[in-house]
Amino acid sequence: MIPALMPTYNRADLAFERGEGAWLWTADGRRYLDFGAGIATSSIGHNNPHLVKTIAEQAAKVMHVSNLYRVPQAERLAERLVETSFADSVFFCNSGAEANEGMIKAVRKYHAESGHPERFRMICFEGAFHGRTLATLAATGNEKYLAGFGPPVDGFDHVPFGNMNAVRAAITERTAGIMIEPVQGEGGVRPASLDFLRELRRACDEFGLLLALDEVQTGMGRSGKLWAHQWAGIEPDVMSSAKGIGGGFPLGAILAKEKVAQYLKPGTHGSTFGGNPLACAAGNAVLDVILAPGFLDHVDRVARHLWRGLLGLKERHPAVVEGVQGAGLLLGLKLKPEVSNTDMQAAAVAEGLLTVAAGQNVLRVAPPLIITEEEADEAVRLLDRACLRLTPEKAKEAAQ
Ligand code: PLP
Repeated sequence: MIPALMPTYNRADLAFERGEGAWLWTADGRRYLDFGAGIATSSIGHNNPHLVKTIAEQAAKVMHVSNLYRVPQAERLAERLVETSFADSVFFCNSGAEANEGMIKAVRKYHAESGHPERFRMICFEGAFHGRTLATLAATGNEKYLAGFGPPVDGFDHVPFGNMNAVRAAITERTAGIMIEPVQGEGGVRPASLDFLRELRRACDEFGLLLALDEVQTGMGRSGKLWAHQWAGIEPDVMSSAKGIGGGFPLGAILAKEKVAQYLKPGTHGSTFGGNPLACAAGNAVLDVILAPGFLDHVDRVARHLWRGLLGLKERHPAVVEGVQGAGLLLGLKLKPEVSNTDMQAAAVAEGLLTVAAGQNVLRVAPPLIITEEEADEAVRLLDRACLRLTPEKAKEAAQ
């Protein structure tokens, strides 16, 4: 019989009762080091006192009023995001897919209102992941996810990730923009080179296209800067954010330059829950932590420390680990083809460590941004043991 909870996920048989910082406990008292952070989402850790207090206080006042009224918490969060980013204006929603869906609409609207309704196509990248709604699935372009859901939404042209010649060749008079994750997350923790991002910016300027960044996974401090594109010294025209922005509370956002945002007038786009007082109170509390002096430096430092630790795994377990890739605290262990990332994920769970599988046989390591160097070391120690569980017997004997 089908479970009451629709079986859209292959779930591990683990149920967590409480969390603290980077740690989670099951009801029967088993403790796990959470280096998956709910798929790169619990940005400031579990049970952060400031976030918990803020949510509890706001919930006791008012949670939801709708966007028929002013929402001071949303105004404040938008102002702070504008102050700290390229954007002039922000739209709030509830998830990454919803943010991307709105971002795609914003790009199309910009060209339509500028007298070019024929420019609605987006150049996207092989290996991308932008969400599960119909348009974001089409932007994702993965046949496996699209199968069975009817004709894909039109308007998305895919080219190889990192190939500037292919991008330029794909631009036509119907192209509206380029949509890219600065680091492909689900697709295998693959960073775009900073030069490639700069080249994309240049091509957008040259052809009058909008650069639309999906920073759902890379944003809100995960890369060691507030937004990953800042490493390349470029600015997008529009950007999506979700995951870490609410620290575990559902919140998404579209951040846009005025030239794009000006066309999203009343009636063009909306969301009943988007930007409600509770979600935005949570967003403000997360920002308080992430914008505190020294916090992003901490992320950068601990990320480099973790990177070095993961590189050690490659040296000690060459039969298991092929390499380390990613940026900041969005890191991936590329595994040997003989070792499956889901087996590695299960081996890590057996050692008390939570991680997330990603495409291209990569094990994603994306802890809360508040981890200490000691916790990074502990994760490497647990991964060491997980590697031993998977090392073919001969290699294990040789290593001893
Ligand atoms: N964009 C990126 C880069 C993502 O990693 C994800 C989720 O993994 C999404 C969009 C979709 O976000 P959500 O699951 O909140 O709809």
